Amino acid sequence: MSSEDSVKWLREQIERVKRNAQQALADPHTSDGHGVRIIGGKLAIMPSAASDRLTLHLVTNGPQDVIARCEAELAILGEHIIAHNQRGDALCFTCTDGPYPCRTVHLLASAYRHQPGWAEYWPEAVA
Ligand SMILES: [Zn+2]
Repeated sequence: MSSEDSVKWLREQIERVKRNAQQALADPHTSDGHGVRIIGGKLAIMPSAASDRLTLHLVTNGPQDVIARCEAELAILGEHIIAHNQRGDALCFTCTDGPYPCRTVHLLASAYRHQPGWAEYWPEAVA
């Protein structure tokens, strides 16, 4: 597994999460059948559907929020792309030191550590 494969996996995870949020947002009548709906682009939860803490968590993780976070993650990932020095060593274009992926990309990837493929693509991050 190359470092480029790991970064590709990370980009795919971010894009998948963003796509799921966009699809949820695209249907103004989206409902999970248990009191969770998308109304006017925002997540709406019927009071009886969830505990107050869970409701608070869910409304701060609605599709618009998820899309915004994914776009920020993709922008960060776009700034920390692979580059090579004159010896051919893989470095981060922004951080300018090695090895690639840099610490920033590792930290971004850690947000997806509960997704299938994490241990396969980021084995050095599994302790
Ligand atoms: Zn970097």
